[in-house]
Amino acid sequence: MIIASADMMLVSRSIRLAICLVVCVGLLEQGVHVNAKPFETKASQCGYQSCNKARTDALNVHLVPHSHDDVGWLKTVDQYFTGTKTNIQRANVNAIISSVVLALKENPERRFIQVETAFFHQWWSEQNDATKKTVHELVENGQLQFTGGAWSMNDEAAVHYQAVIDQFTFGLKFLNETFGECARPMVGWQIDPFGHSSEMASIFAHMGYDGVFFARVDWRDKMERLNNKKADMIWQGSNKLGASSNIFTSLLYNHYSAPSGFCFDVLCQEDPIVTDERNSEYNFKSKVENFNNFIRSQASHYKTNNIIITMGDDFNYQDAVSYYRNMDKLIEGFKLWPQKFRDQDINLFYSTPACYVKAVNDAVNSNDIELPLETYDFFPYASDYNSYWSGYYTSRPASKRSEKSSSNLLQIHKQLATFTRNAGEDEIVQMQKSVGIMQHHDAITGTEKQHVANDYARIMDEAFKDSEMKINGYISKLLSSNSSQQISLNLKQCLLKNETICAESTSDTFTVVVYNPLVHKTKYPVRFPVNSLNFAITGPNDESVNYQISDSIAFEEGKENGNQYELTFIAELDALGLKVYNVKKSSTVGYEMDKPTTDACKCKLGGIARGVNIDSSTGLLESVTINGKELKVRQELLYYLSAQGDNSEFSKRSSGAYIFRNLNGTVAQQMSDKVEFTTYKGEIYDEIHQVFGDWAKQTIRVYHDEGVNDNIEFEWYVGPIPVDDEQGKEVISRFTTELETGRDFYTDSNGREMIHRIRDFRPTYTYTNEEPIAGNYHPVTAQITITDGTTRLSVLNDRSQGGTSLESGQVEVMVHRRMLRDDAFGVGEALNEKDGDQGLKVRGRHYLTITTPETQIIERRLANRISMEPWVFFDSTSDVSNLSLKKEFTALKQTSNSVDEVVKLLTLEPILSHKSTLLIRLENFCDWDDKKQVTVNLEDFFVNFDIMTLEEVNLAGNILKDRLAWNQYPSVKTSNIKDSFEVTLKPFEIKTFKAIVNYKSSLY
Ligand SMILES: [Zn+2]
Repeated sequence: MIIASADMMLVSRSIRLAICLVVCVGLLEQGVHVNAKPFETKASQCGYQSCNKARTDALNVHLVPHSHDDVGWLKTVDQYFTGTKTNIQRANVNAIISSVVLALKENPERRFIQVETAFFHQWWSEQNDATKKTVHELVENGQLQFTGGAWSMNDEAAVHYQAVIDQFTFGLKFLNETFGECARPMVGWQIDPFGHSSEMASIFAHMGYDGVFFARVDWRDKMERLNNKKADMIWQGSNKLGASSNIFTSLLYNHYSAPSGFCFDVLCQEDPIVTDERNSEYNFKSKVENFNNFIRSQASHYKTNNIIITMGDDFNYQDAVSYYRNMDKLIEGFKLWPQKFRDQDINLFYSTPACYVKAVNDAVNSNDIELPLETYDFFPYASDYNSYWSGYYTSRPASKRSEKSSSNLLQIHKQLATFTRNAGEDEIVQMQKSVGIMQHHDAITGTEKQHVANDYARIMDEAFKDSEMKINGYISKLLSSNSSQQISLNLKQCLLKNETICAESTSDTFTVVVYNPLVHKTKYPVRFPVNSLNFAITGPNDESVNYQISDSIAFEEGKENGNQYELTFIAELDALGLKVYNVKKSSTVGYEMDKPTTDACKCKLGGIARGVNIDSSTGLLESVTINGKELKVRQELLYYLSAQGDNSEFSKRSSGAYIFRNLNGTVAQQMSDKVEFTTYKGEIYDEIHQVFGDWAKQTIRVYHDEGVNDNIEFEWYVGPIPVDDEQGKEVISRFTTELETGRDFYTDSNGREMIHRIRDFRPTYTYTNEEPIAGNYHPVTAQITITDGTTRLSVLNDRSQGGTSLESGQVEVMVHRRMLRDDAFGVGEALNEKDGDQGLKVRGRHYLTITTPETQIIERRLANRISMEPWVFFDSTSDVSNLSLKKEFTALKQTSNSVDEVVKLLTLEPILSHKSTLLIRLENFCDWDDKKQVTVNLEDFFVNFDIMTLEEVNLAGNILKDRLAWNQYPSVKTSNIKDSFEVTLKPFEIKTFKAIVNYKSSLY
């Protein structure tokens, strides 16, 4: 492990700021100096009333003190909070918040924004009553303004909307319960994520935010926006939802840093302001003049008489008083030597991002200023000609899968808790915290140091175990035949089953409990490792259950606790339903595994309606048939050679944790001339095992029952990526068809709306194409699609990845990366993940669908099933046959058991400890048919409780309130308490409710 020195940090930050230098130099303008008026008195209440007042007749310069506190990056979350490991980075969030509170008390004009609730929550829990009282006062008078306010500042490329909504709800709930309405963040603060998604804008809008700020957009985009005064804009997050997804958005001028020469932090090496004229170091007047130059330069790029100047950086304000005293002097200096810009006074004052938005809103509305309406997103992010931040879409693929699983399990944990009376919100917090931390823009992205990645894995692992224990309690209760005879199961998840390891499923007798979190019936293939071929499986009604066994592609001779086979049976699950299966090893030979064959005549797998053909000469996929329609599709695992420069100039950039950059002039490489393959056929599925080389294998699987899977499954198993040749490699799965799709393809935005991409083109700025492969990579959180207008081919994935279409009729998705160089954006290590002394192996899935414009619901339904996958638990210790145990449970009443297929129960969670208040979110995931409005009647819906009242709240679970109105969108506040339990959802709409429920005691 390489430890980043303080010098390296400075170097990296200056590289991160290269864009600003490009943009700012040469744009200075001369101002005129006249008397400035002092700013008006502060208001006494929180919210916009508390803003230090902007003036209509002046250039208002909003000084915004802030500290960017990563929830893990070079140090772990705990190291950052406590300040340990100063040898890695001088960063101590505990000290920052304490120090800021003292500084704010010193002068009521001062302002600060607190962003990451993960850190604030920790700090708050350690404070005495006197400090808590002080902080309450600072929140109530608007000096301390929560901004963003989610558990972490989430990434926007690799995150799924469900986890983002969860982590905002969790953070905002803590703030609301602690401080009330004054702590409600009014704007988003996404200053460091590496590019920005339109879904995130839509989420902010629907959570009731009035604005969002960011700093990282493509450098050409930024230059064009500044030159055309388009850095303040109205952004429409969703073309489908229209104006309700509009939000004011501001692109920051100077990254998120203080102007050069004005970082007064202890981490900076810039001069403080010396006001004593007798002192030989006196610099007061020149500091004011230099700051004025910066102001004039920035102001010339913005439309209104307001600019925001960020006064802060990573982990600033560990000694807040000295930073603030310098800013006090700067403000004082502008009063002593009044400055002008274009005949207007310059009014310099402490402010916050929310107060900036309010001031811009006032200026726009009173002067009839038109802000541009943007409808695209901000991916991929490039910081120079050769640095496309499209590598992190795939970096650390195993961690990305764990994150996705943990969000999936969180939904299940929350649902099962609500079905179990007395399981309050406090029982789900550990997994909520873990999911919140993992959304951070150096966590899910894979852009942290290895020791931090290990710590994230620890945090997730502990949360998985906590959920497992709690869920075990819930399921034990729900399956107990009566409340007086409570059973106690011993359920385990077997999280290593994809590595062929599961102690429970290799014992002689065990129980399998499967839970379906969907509000629809489903048939789910339960798959786990076994070490023998003969079993007797019985279902809930003692019926015999069919199964199939294959060799596992992940099995290796000599692997500790590894198992050679994988068993699959189909669980037919009710909506929100549990089922119990008993599995016994059988002494009689009951099952004969289909003999693997390489016989060319067996290269046709599946049936007439759905199947695959293998080209026996290459061993590659030749065609697929789905819904009776055959399409030629060639699929390969290939790899790029990574660029390996010394980062001394843009053209020598290395591929790394952030950056994807293939070796100049090379294309994707084949692993071998011929893919060896064997086929297996059985009653439940047919599959082919392909060997692309020593380090890449794949299973292509077709289930016979369309109800199980109406797609073709590709299970790739890649690694250890060899680097003996001192060459980093990045592995892709590529699908090539004869469809004429031109330069067009579609990728999802955080698992929701599909965004139209055009190869080698950007709709909002002039694109130069120095990196024709990396520059065309986009985030694929859930799906990538090509279409010729009649046939749609989509690949869906089980974790976030990067993907593109480099040729007509082609899509590719990156699955794994291993490099030997750092890309010099601060992390200071090559992305070279290991398992022991070998490179990391990763196993994952792609799901291929072929649809038409009329049948594309199949894609959305599949995406829904992937993000809300049934969960499988094993118990090898309880003798279930002797227990008074129900073998089935469903939480949905039979009368309501036919919810429309486009409805997703996005959230069902307890939101008060041991009180019967739940948060419910319903989503209509139909995003292509404008008429597909659906109604769900929540009356008589759940088995375990009745809903007594239903109050509509905003997407974050907070009460609805008016948003600031703009020309492009009005302030909308819809009614809240509902007089009926019927919920109508327009296409693509999510509605959120607080429900007070009445539990039925007889059921426990
Ligand atoms: Zn950051």
